[in-house]
Amino acid sequence: MKKQHPCGSNEWEIVRIGADIKIKCLNCGRTILLPRIEFNKKLKKIIKL
Ligand SMILES: [Zn+2]
Repeated sequence: MKKQHPCGSNEWEIVRIGADIKIKCLNCGRTILLPRIEFNKKLKKIIKL
């Protein structure tokens, strides 16, 4: 997923998919919860899971 985190990483792991999408920054380990609609808007490119 191509979305840069302030820590400098742009690699994310998808933790959970439901009504909301939970993603985890692989660099610093922080998790972020995104509404599915927002996720779909932002996520045009998917990197390998
Ligand atoms: Zn991070």
